[in-house]
Amino acid sequence: MSDRYDAIIIGGGPGGSTAALVMARAGLKVCVLEKDKHPRFHIGESFLPRATPLLQELGLEKVVRALPHVNKTGAEFGFGNDMKTMKFDFTIGLVPGTRIFNIARADYDKVLFDQAGLAGAELRENTAVREIVSLKQDDVIVRTGAGDIRGRILIDASGHGTVVGRHLGLRQNFDEPELQKVAYFEHFDDVERLHNDEDGHPGIFMADEGWFWMIGIDAKRTSVGFVTRPEFVKTLNIPPHQLLQWAISRCPVVRHRMRNATGPSTNRVLADFSYTCKPYAGDGYFLVGDAACFLDPIFSTGVTLAMVGGKKAAELSINVLSGKLAPAKAQKQYIKLILGSTGVFWGLIRGYYRHSFRELFMNGTGPMQVHKAIISILAGHVFPKPKWGLRWRLWLFQFCVWGQEKFGTFVPKRPHCSLVAQSPEPLPLIDGADTMAAATAHAI
Ligand SMILES: Cc1cc2nc3c(=O)[nH]c(=O)nc-3n(C[C@H](O)[C@H](O)[C@H](O)COP(=O)(O)OP(=O)(O)OC[C@H]3O[C@@H](n4cnc5c(N)ncnc54)[C@H](O)[C@@H]3O)c2cc1C
Repeated sequence: MSDRYDAIIIGGGPGGSTAALVMARAGLKVCVLEKDKHPRFHIGESFLPRATPLLQELGLEKVVRALPHVNKTGAEFGFGNDMKTMKFDFTIGLVPGTRIFNIARADYDKVLFDQAGLAGAELRENTAVREIVSLKQDDVIVRTGAGDIRGRILIDASGHGTVVGRHLGLRQNFDEPELQKVAYFEHFDDVERLHNDEDGHPGIFMADEGWFWMIGIDAKRTSVGFVTRPEFVKTLNIPPHQLLQWAISRCPVVRHRMRNATGPSTNRVLADFSYTCKPYAGDGYFLVGDAACFLDPIFSTGVTLAMVGGKKAAELSINVLSGKLAPAKAQKQYIKLILGSTGVFWGLIRGYYRHSFRELFMNGTGPMQVHKAIISILAGHVFPKPKWGLRWRLWLFQFCVWGQEKFGTFVPKRPHCSLVAQSPEPLPLIDGADTMAAATAHAI
């Protein structure tokens, strides 16, 4: 079977390209199947500091830093109705490693994809995998519009496409309503940002109905989005492509920062998350990045997790294909890495939707350096799992969240921000303000 590849990779996003790069450099015959053509828009522009050593190990830091980007040294959190926000800097974390950036994904993903090609991977764009015909170690067949492709191992990095997850019936949404989310987002020019070193701080602004992000991705453009619950949206009579305008018009902090902004009056939409596709590895396959599970994007974890997972899946596949490692052992190691690293974020994400968590988080400091540990976790120092010094402080923090909720005594109580309760104001300088005003008029 001379036409058989060692590895077939579905998806040329950060997870798939990283896996392809590592395997191609090791001399494997690799084929990447990507349904779109790069450059293509993708949301998710803010990375964790833990991605920097990874980019260095992969020899990619220079080439991606040559692209337009904004250095990120920390983050800003606030309630949507309170101009007084909380900022933190990654340098105060307990684990060293603090440099990273925000970047437009169209550029970033294309560079990673091209680097995989330069390393020797065969790249096929505009090639969607339509069906999995066979999925067994050394006998993988996937069907595309251009015919069947054979390989020895399959890496599914198809993002929300979750090709293997759907094929094997593994994809499951979470029962918890709080984890069901929909996002509305766009890029805008001339959004007010923080100054100097804080220019790249992602701004996260919280309300009862959802939360906003504002992420500077180059000197002029800022990514702005609103994440909320589908159930809440059903109570509004707003077309999905105007939901972002509706939300901005009701959030004093975001509205203020966008007072001179220009950009589209409509927005993009991404629904149907979060989910998981367990087991993350099995006979003939590894699931990488969003094809394995999708975490709520609040802490900007997705790209870093996808690249760490892509690298690990590639290294394990190399050892399996050369006979150095039994497939079952490789699968076990991979599952452990993904469970260990994502588990800690699931805990923080669940906490984030509790008001008491937000009150403590906004306080900025805590006993026994608990805040420094949380910052290190948010910097992505969680592989294969967080160090003991981070783990016990995280438990302490979670205990404090419970105590604050029950007794309200650890930090001052903070008023809620409700978008529905706010009076809407139009944004005169955004294109299509009339449309927005019409949309807000229909709001409950
Ligand atoms: C609202 C929102 C905000 C986010 N913000 C952040 C953030 O700030 N920071 C961050 O790190 N992450 C963020 N994320 C998450 C991040 O975007 C993803 O985790 C990341 O893109 C995962 O990379 P990946 O390679 O697994 O998948 P993707 O980047 O989605 O790549 C998958 C690729 O597979 C291709 N594909 C799909 N189906 C097929 C098929 N059948 N055949 C062939 N190709 C296929 C797709 O075209 C795509 O190119 C955010 C996500 C959302 C929804």
